[in-house]
Parts: sequence; structure tokens; C-alpha cells
Amino acid sequence: MPETTNPLFDEALLPRFDLIKPEHVEPAIEKLLATLSTQLLELERASKPTWAELIEPLERIDEELSAQWRVVSHLTGVANSEALRIAYAEVEPKLIRFSVRISQSRPIFDTLCSLRDGDEWNRLDRSQQRIVTLLIRDAKLTGVGLNGRARERFNEIQTELAKLSTRFSNNVLDATKAFSKTLREADEVAGLPDSALQLAAQSARDAGETNATSVDGPWRITLDQPSFESFIQHSRRRDLREELYRAYITRASKGDLDNATLIKRILQLRREAANLLGYATHAELSIATKMAASVNAVEKLLEELRVASFDAAHRDLDDLSEFAKAHPEFLAKATACPEALAHWDLPFWAERLREQRYDFSEEELRQYFPLPRVLDGMFGLAKQLFGVEIQEADDETPVWHPDVRFFRVIGEDKKPLAAFYLDPYSRPGEKRGGAWMDECIGRSRLFSNPDGGPRLPVAYLVCNQSPPVNGKPSLMRFREVETLFHEFGHGLQHMLTQIDYGFSSGIHNIEHDAVELPSQFMENWCYHRKTLLGLSGHYETSEPLPDTLYDKICAARNYRAGSLMLRQLHFGFTDLALHHTFEPDGDRDAFDIQRGIAARTSLLPPLLEDRFLCSFTHIFSGGYSAGYFSYKWAEVLSADAFVAFEEAGLDDEQAIARIGRRFRDTILSLGGSQPAMEVFTAFRGREPDTAALLRHSGLKK
Ligand SMILES: [Zn+2]
Repeated sequence: MPETTNPLFDEALLPRFDLIKPEHVEPAIEKLLATLSTQLLELERASKPTWAELIEPLERIDEELSAQWRVVSHLTGVANSEALRIAYAEVEPKLIRFSVRISQSRPIFDTLCSLRDGDEWNRLDRSQQRIVTLLIRDAKLTGVGLNGRARERFNEIQTELAKLSTRFSNNVLDATKAFSKTLREADEVAGLPDSALQLAAQSARDAGETNATSVDGPWRITLDQPSFESFIQHSRRRDLREELYRAYITRASKGDLDNATLIKRILQLRREAANLLGYATHAELSIATKMAASVNAVEKLLEELRVASFDAAHRDLDDLSEFAKAHPEFLAKATACPEALAHWDLPFWAERLREQRYDFSEEELRQYFPLPRVLDGMFGLAKQLFGVEIQEADDETPVWHPDVRFFRVIGEDKKPLAAFYLDPYSRPGEKRGGAWMDECIGRSRLFSNPDGGPRLPVAYLVCNQSPPVNGKPSLMRFREVETLFHEFGHGLQHMLTQIDYGFSSGIHNIEHDAVELPSQFMENWCYHRKTLLGLSGHYETSEPLPDTLYDKICAARNYRAGSLMLRQLHFGFTDLALHHTFEPDGDRDAFDIQRGIAARTSLLPPLLEDRFLCSFTHIFSGGYSAGYFSYKWAEVLSADAFVAFEEAGLDDEQAIARIGRRFRDTILSLGGSQPAMEVFTAFRGREPDTAALLRHSGLKK
């Protein structure tokens, strides 16, 4: 294909979503890799230890590599098709190989070290120095400093680990798929809400029961999250809940799909790789790139939260037991421990008690949150806090779907700062589930914009909320409103950056345990009375959200907060112990460790057959090994940041604006250009404190 007709080569600032087709991907990426390989060789031969002759060319290569690729991977998320999937799978391994090749380049590593040790170092600003330091660190973590046999061994380990992690997650997928239970009697699905029945009938039809309907069945229940979760929460059949629960916690623990041996091997190899790089354990290696200062600091935080949530969680359990005892008919079909609540009872009774305590329906609530109203309210808040104006752009901008909208962000000086796409609605089959913020274009001085300033950032905000139906606007569930605020928070950090170096502008170089700070911070505003009333309005009458509903939303926010916290801590402690104190070659196995921890973090002891670790993909095949704690770590930061506003007075508009500007000028503007602890301290005037999170969760006065 001639380059002139391949829109991936278009130099226009925004991607030509109206023209890009799957067949453009392969030729564009092949050509790009060929060019970049030559440039890399050239750089390796002639690089000098200066910013202009090393870091800038590296940023150009990095940017060119990611620019096209970001467009392609974005499209696989929002406009997927068989042809695109094939094209993606074809080029992805080549791109990965090339980026590993850059980070393992010895000549570049040596020049980076010379830059750090040479004359120019003191002339670089702190943010430039951090970029160099992190490039050196990351190269070391990919094994660039190893020689001979050690390097060979390190690479062997990485290859084996990659295979094991894929096998681990495939086993979980296969084991999940291998189980299903088809129910034919109405009594067996008693309690399930309509949405769950529809899902179960659909699943039965997909499995060949062509006549299945949500009213008459048959209904097929599986271990997929939506199916399992709604069954365990709503089914009145205790015996069936038990059967499902036991199947769920033993996934991937038997026969060909048994992950137990993989767990042992993964932990051994991770320990060995960490040792080769000079770390005592994998946890120490993981913490080296985090905001948390040490494994000890993480343990201390988790323990502090555990102590604070333990009693509350036990009170939650007592509440449930009492509530369940008043409804003995639901305990009737017990097969074990008929009097006490079992694992498979907790989610069920938790839902019943929730219904009783906070009797608002999601359907009722949605009427108050039409998307246009929510956007107005959210943009109004951004203006109040950060002084930015958000305007919808004309409809000339090419988009990948007619529902996608394009907005511009204007600064207080009336100059453009950034832009973003918003793709709000779910489109099953072509769009991935969940919600996310992604970078379309990053801020950088190397690629100036038409008026001479640095190139300005552009973000993708992608949600999966209910589309408009029957002429009504999209009515958002409350959770969807929170999600939109969450992604907008990530987007603001990408868009309001004031850093002009591509390697650390926006969200680049932010520690993994600090990236959720601005996103979770923004969610807090959904519970701020004035903000919430400002973004609500009945879609027919424009009436704002009634006070009674507002009060219930706030009360429901902390329902079972202690129990939920303790469960997350259980995962965090287990992950850390397996990657730190656990001896993979010793006598005890990983399950012993998990059981030992459960004594301090679980309300009910795990069943003897519990093999939850065999499906813990976050740490064995996701990016969260010795990093699961990051969820809690970032929550501490975001709650503490929000308390700065509470302390100043949430009803004092001037105070909110003042603190908001400070948040913008530190957390949002500086991003990863400085260590997260310094950026946080610059905003808060001190290091983070757990008190805010505990108070927000109702676990401390
Ligand atoms: Zn997030």
C-alpha cells in the first residue's frame, strides 16, 4: 500500500479515525519499525552523554513508536473487529521485541550513566534528572547490567515467566468455562432479578438450548463474574449457592488445569530474578519502583488499616447473623452448619440487609442523572476547582463512532490547554467492557504545536454506560456517574500537566501506587451535596435530586466498609507474604501462607479445599505482583487529599477554589516529574495520613 494513502502516516495532529482501516495497520507498523531500527542503531553508535543528543532522540523514537500504536490499540478497545484483531496480533510481538531491545541496549545504558556522572548533569533541572535516573533504573530492571551467564539466565527466566503467566490465566479461563449448571425448575432460580434471569437464559441459548427464555428457562449459571455474582447474592436456594461457591473457590486447582504447581514455579523464578538484580526478594524489587518506601512501610499501612477495620467487620457479621435468624426459611436447605452463616450466605444476606436499610432503587435514582446534566455539573466543578473551561468542539473532528464527542480544555488565560474524546456508551461486540482513560497525544516540547508552544495533550475517556433508549437521554446509574468522575480525574492529570518533557508529562513516570490518586479524588465529589445536586436534574421535570435520596446515597456509601476493607487487606497481605517472607523451596506451600493470614483477616476461616490462589490472576498473571496493596495505598492518598478541602470548608467557594488551584499546580501539573511523595507533600504540606480514609469509611471518628 502506498504511504500516501495510508492514514496512519497522516501528519495531522489528530488521528484520522474516519479513514483508518485494519488493513493499514501492518504496513504502517512494519515500515515504522524498519525506520526506527535504523535510527536506534545510529543512536547506539553515535550517542553523546547530553540531553540533546541522547534523551531527545530517545524520546523521538519512543514517541514515534507509540503514536501509531496508541491509535491501533485504542481502536481494538473501542471499534474491534476480526480483521483488526488479526492485524493487532500480527504486529504486537514485534513492537514488544523492539521496545525490549531499546531498554536492554547496553550502549544506550552506558551513555545514560555517563550523562548522570558527567558535566551536564548539574545543568539539568530536577525533572530532567529524574527522567535520566528512571531510564537507568528501568534498564537495570530489564537486566541490562547483567553479563554472560547471569544475563542469559535472567532472559531465560523472563521467557519462562511470560509463558507461565499466560498459562496461568488460560487455565483460569478454561476452568471457569468448564463449569456450568443448567437449572430447569422455577424454584431453582427463586430470588434472581430479571437482569440475571435474562443473562442466564442467554447463556443457555448460547450453549444450545435454543428455546430458553428468561421467564420459562432453562437458565444456565456459570462462574463468569456477572453470572456467579448475581447468583450468590440473590439466589434463595442455599444448597445451590453452596455448590456454586465451592466450584468458584476451587477453579483451576484440579487435573490438567491445576495452577498450584505454576504458583510454586512462578514464585521460585521471581525470587531468582530478583536475586540476580541484587534484591533479596521479589517484593523488594517491586517496591523499588513504587511510592511506598519499603516493604515495611507497606506492612505497617496494611496493619494499621486491618486493626481499624477488624472489629467493624465482625460487627457487620453479627448484624448479618441476626438479620438472617429472623428469616429462618432461607436457612432451611442447608447442607452444612445449618445454624451459622457460611461463606455462601454472606453475599446473599448482605444484599437483603442492604435492601432493607437503604430502600432506594437504582431505576429511581437514574432518572435524576441524564448524561448532559451530569457533564455540565462535572465541567462546572472543573472550572470551580481548577479554573479550566471545557467546551464541546465543532463536529469536524474525525471520530471512530457517531456517539463519540470531542471537547477542548481552555485555561484561565483563555489559551487552549488540552482536548479529549468522550465515548460514553456501551457497544457490545465492538467495545471492551469497563471504563478507562488513555493517552491519545502527550504534552511535549519536542513536537511543537502550530503556534509554537509545546504540543498539547489529548485524552480518550471511555465509559460503558447505558445508551439513550426510546428518545430519553442516557440515564446514568450512580455507579456510572462515579466512574465518569474517576476517568475524568485520570484525564485531568494527563491534560493539565505543565511538564514539557514527553518522558514525564501527564501520567508518565508516576509510581504505580500513586496513579489512582486524582481519579479516586474526583469520585469524592459525587458525595458532596452541592456538587451532586448541581449535576442532577430529573430528565422530565429538571427537579434536583431530593434530599431523602441524597441522604440514602451517603448512608449506603459505607455499608459494610469494614468487611470490604478487610477482604482487600487479606489479598494485600497474602500477595506481600508470598513475594517476601515465603520460601518457595521450603516445606510449607502457598496455601498454608494464605490460611495463616486468613486467621487475622477473614471473618470465617477458609474451607480446607479453598484454592482461591489458583485463580488470583492479579498477582500471578496481571501486573500486581507484590503490588496489590497499591489499591489501598492510593485510597489513603485520595481520601487525605480530599480532606484538605473539607478542612478548608466544603461550602466556602473561595477556599475550595484556592485549594483546587493548589491541587492543580502540584498533583495535576507535576505528575511524575518528581517522586510522588514529594508531589503529595507539596500539596498537603505533610506526608499522607490514614485517618482520612478511615473516617470517610466510617471506621474512625
Ligand atoms: Zn483508575
